[in-house]
Amino acid sequence: MTVLVWIETFEGQIIPSSREAIAAGRLLADRLGTELAALVFGENAAAIGGQVGQYGAAKAMVCSDDSLAAYRLEPYAALLTHLVRQHNPAAVIAAASSRGRELLAGSAADTDSGLISDAIDLRVEAGKIIGTRPVYAGKILMEMTADTATAFVTIRGRAFQALPADAAASAEVTAVEPVLDDASITTQIEGFEPQAGKVSLSEAAIVVSGGRGIANNPLTPPAELKGNAADIWKAKEGFKHTLQPLAAVLGAAIGASRAAVDAGYIAYEHQVGQTGKVVSPDLYIACGISGAIQHQAGMRGSKIIVAINKDAQAPIFKLARYGIVGDLYEVVPALTKALKQQ
Ligand code: FAD
Repeated sequence: MTVLVWIETFEGQIIPSSREAIAAGRLLADRLGTELAALVFGENAAAIGGQVGQYGAAKAMVCSDDSLAAYRLEPYAALLTHLVRQHNPAAVIAAASSRGRELLAGSAADTDSGLISDAIDLRVEAGKIIGTRPVYAGKILMEMTADTATAFVTIRGRAFQALPADAAASAEVTAVEPVLDDASITTQIEGFEPQAGKVSLSEAAIVVSGGRGIANNPLTPPAELKGNAADIWKAKEGFKHTLQPLAAVLGAAIGASRAAVDAGYIAYEHQVGQTGKVVSPDLYIACGISGAIQHQAGMRGSKIIVAINKDAQAPIFKLARYGIVGDLYEVVPALTKALKQQ
């Protein structure tokens, strides 16, 4: 019995939430009195396998085969399933990122194992792993356990604190072979489109979010734009010239409500909420967002919520630590200016 942690990487680098997954794995391994092994597949796997010891893993199983260079579900799940069958671990943990959720769900199904998803807390009781996860937009905390030999667990970003790096520690690294040969894998990666300079929404410590209110930009759109097209132009200008400067001064990521995304003001990758991303930053600044329950589902776990809204009755104010009743086009530039001066 051991605890396995899948280390998510991108372009040969460990992603920060994988260090949080190691911390969660360390906690379980200590409680279960077992060891923690990191699984590193893909580009630069050997080097990352060498690093994970510093972050709290005693062992690392690495696969640097070209077929695993970039994440693809089929070869990754096939190898993970193979290793789970071989090692019969008590738990398999990963960050609840898009990939972590997909991979662990796939491998849990392949091995007929239970899956505890999106955990914000973990404990062991009578040898059973119990995970806590928020449900109903974070209004209720639910406890989940897996009634199978192996529990697959995905952990919510920023719920567990990464362990401080210990430069003196190292992991025992073992190489493992891929299970599928490249010819049998149906998906091929053609490339990635870099989004230089953007802060990742799921991992951001600060998020500045815009809602439908962003379309109430006092700027006058070009005369040829009418109706919805004029609103889209005003909202896009608002994200670019009003929210983005605030985000830049704070080193924040840009979020949005579904209303803003559905209206075409900003791309879906920015959507926060039940059908978007779940974020738990230290600071969440909601601008022109009413605070619908589905939006709350994605941001309720934020440590400090600041709401800027014209309507003093907007539900977001019930959630916010600090509320500013006012026009975001007056408040946000003033805030940005004041923060710049700091
Ligand atoms: P509104 O509710 O229209 O609020 C706009 C706010 O802006 C108002 O409070 C207004 O007072 C304020 N405002 C206007 N002008 C200004 C100004 N100049 N300055 C300051 N304030 C201003 N929503 C999500 O966000 N994420 C989800 O993932 C999501 N998933 C959903 C899933 C389902 C199944 C369903 C049914 C709905 C989902 N929704 C989701 C939609 C959700 O119910 C709301 O419709 C949406 O969150 C509203 O977005 P909003 O707050 O931007 O818009």
